[in-house]
Order: sequence, then C-alpha cells, then structure tokens
Amino acid sequence: MKAYRLAGWKKGGHYVDVPVPEPGPGQVLVRMGGAGICHSDLHIMHEWSPEERPELAAIAPEFTLGHENAGWIDRVGPGVQRWEQGQAVAVSPVWSCGACAACRAGDDSYCEGPRTGSGGLGQDGGLASYMLAPARSLVALQGLAPDQAAPLTDAGLTSYHAVKRSLDVLTPDAAALVIGVGGLGHMGVAYLRELTGGPVIAVDRSEAARNMASRLGADLVLDSDDRTAEAVRDATHGLGVRAVFDFVGIDATLQLAASVVRSRGKITMVGLGGGTFPVRFGALPHATTIGVTFGGSLSDLAEVVALAELGRVRPHVQPFDFDRIDEAYHALHEGRVEGRAVIVPG
Ligand SMILES: [Zn+2]
Ligand SMILES: [Zn+2]
Repeated sequence: MKAYRLAGWKKGGHYVDVPVPEPGPGQVLVRMGGAGICHSDLHIMHEWSPEERPELAAIAPEFTLGHENAGWIDRVGPGVQRWEQGQAVAVSPVWSCGACAACRAGDDSYCEGPRTGSGGLGQDGGLASYMLAPARSLVALQGLAPDQAAPLTDAGLTSYHAVKRSLDVLTPDAAALVIGVGGLGHMGVAYLRELTGGPVIAVDRSEAARNMASRLGADLVLDSDDRTAEAVRDATHGLGVRAVFDFVGIDATLQLAASVVRSRGKITMVGLGGGTFPVRFGALPHATTIGVTFGGSLSDLAEVVALAELGRVRPHVQPFDFDRIDEAYHALHEGRVEGRAVIVPG
C-alpha cells in the first residue's frame, strides 16, 4: 500500500510503498475512511527536532503521518474481543497504557506510562490504506461516515476537552473567547454554543474563518488587531471573558488572552504556536488559572462522537484525494482550508 510518511526531522513528508501491517495481540487493522490534516503536522514535518524539543526523543522518523483517523475494522489481532470486521470506528490519537494513575482516573491524554507515541505521532498513522490501532483506542461509529468522523478525533476531541475543562466557570452571564477559528477553533465555537449559555466571542485574522464562526453561532466575531482587546471589553460591559481558548498560542494571542480574562477565569492554551506569557503576581486578574491541555480522554471522544451522531456538532470537512496530501498541507499552511481538510483514500 502507499503511505505518506515523515521523511525525517525538518525533511517533510513523502509517499512510500509499505506492506499492509498484521494486527498483533490487542490490535486491530483499520481500513482507512478518512484522515484529517492537522497543523501540528506542519511543525513536525518542517520545524521541530529533538534537539530543540526533548519530548520528541521518544518518537523517531520514519513513520506514517495522520493522527486524526477513522475507518472500518478490517481484521482483529489475537485476544481482541468486542470488535468485529466491518464496524466503523474513530481512532483516538491518544494511545495510553491503561494502568497508570492518570489512565485509571480516565485522563488518558495525561498518561504517565511508557511513551510509545501513537498513530501519526511516532507510530504509523492513517495517511495510508490501512493502519494498526490498539483495540482500546477505538470508539464505534453508528451512523456517521468515517470521512466525516475523522476530524472528531483531534480537532473535535482536543477542542471539546478544552471547553469541558472550563464549563464550571461558563455560567450564562459569563462570556467565552475563542482565538483562532481553524480546524480546532471552529469546533470550539460549536461546542461552546452547544454546551454553554453565555456569549461566545471569536477572533481570527481570516475573513473566511470569521464567517464560519458567525455561521456556527458566535455572538461576536472580531478581526485580530490592536483594538481587539478593547472590543472584547466593550462587548462584556468592561468585565472581560471568563474563559479563553487560545488555539494559536503565539505571544500576541496569549497577551490578548491575559488582557481580556476576568477574575476567576480560565485560560486554556491549545495552539502549538510556541509563544510565552510571563506569569507574576499582578500579571493576571486574581484567581485566574492557565492550563495547557493535550488531546482528550476516551470518554471525551465518545461524547464528541455522540454529539456528532446526534447532528448537534459536526466538523466542517474539506475533502482531498489521497494523491493530493502535499496540496492539502500547502493549503493549510497558507490558511486556505475552511474547517478541516480530510484525506480520503482512493
Ligand atoms: Zn493534531
Ligand atoms: Zn497510562
């Protein structure tokens, strides 16, 4: 089969012929139905290396990219019960040990077990005809097609997990701010609209992204410039917002987050922009917390899938054929993807 693999650190991706893998104990072979194209892949392919980011030492090229996956079970490995051939499934991008304190608490994305990487992030992912996945990482799809479900496993899961962490402070009299309405951010706006009662404000530099935020029900949509913070305060009676979701994560967006969050608020950093914000007493309103989240739990994924199956929150998908992966990444790099690009195998 053809696979699109990370050629090496800062060496981009390329198509390679590889054998169809055999499922081992506890694994299933998934026939791919869709694989989402994520901005983090651009960092992995072109910018990052283990010298600068020691956390990458556990994962080594080459491996097949694509960590946002859904398809159909093709074969099950020894010892796998529950799953049967033909079942449509979403594959969590979090491959966890299942035995550490975090996993036992249901917080699999913060697994403290051995770091093995996961499909598309160290292990072979879904930009191929087939991929292997641990049976434990799957969530069944009842009616949703895999190419529509694929973005739920990262764009959906990661944004949902971030929103869920702030639900306790998002009372109907408190506003939320989403910075960056891309693959993850557009899902964040939709989850906030579905799960909270207060105003949702969205910020993005792209007009197409702002239009999407409006369509998804954002109450106020703003361009990103030097008046954004003032506009947010004006719209919230001078109070600011109780929760900020920064899906960009550069210095300017963190600065915006800090300047509009109100006391007892929560800032969640999701974007991998690599920005920093100096924390000291007085830099933030009292009792503000900043959290850095990663992915989401298996139960978060089940909830995300349930919301999509019900038709309440579904990703906006822009499909690309398998031989157009380079083009899809290029479009993402240039900010020309609306919602999520999904690679559909031929
Ligand atoms: Zn991702
Ligand atoms: Zn664990």
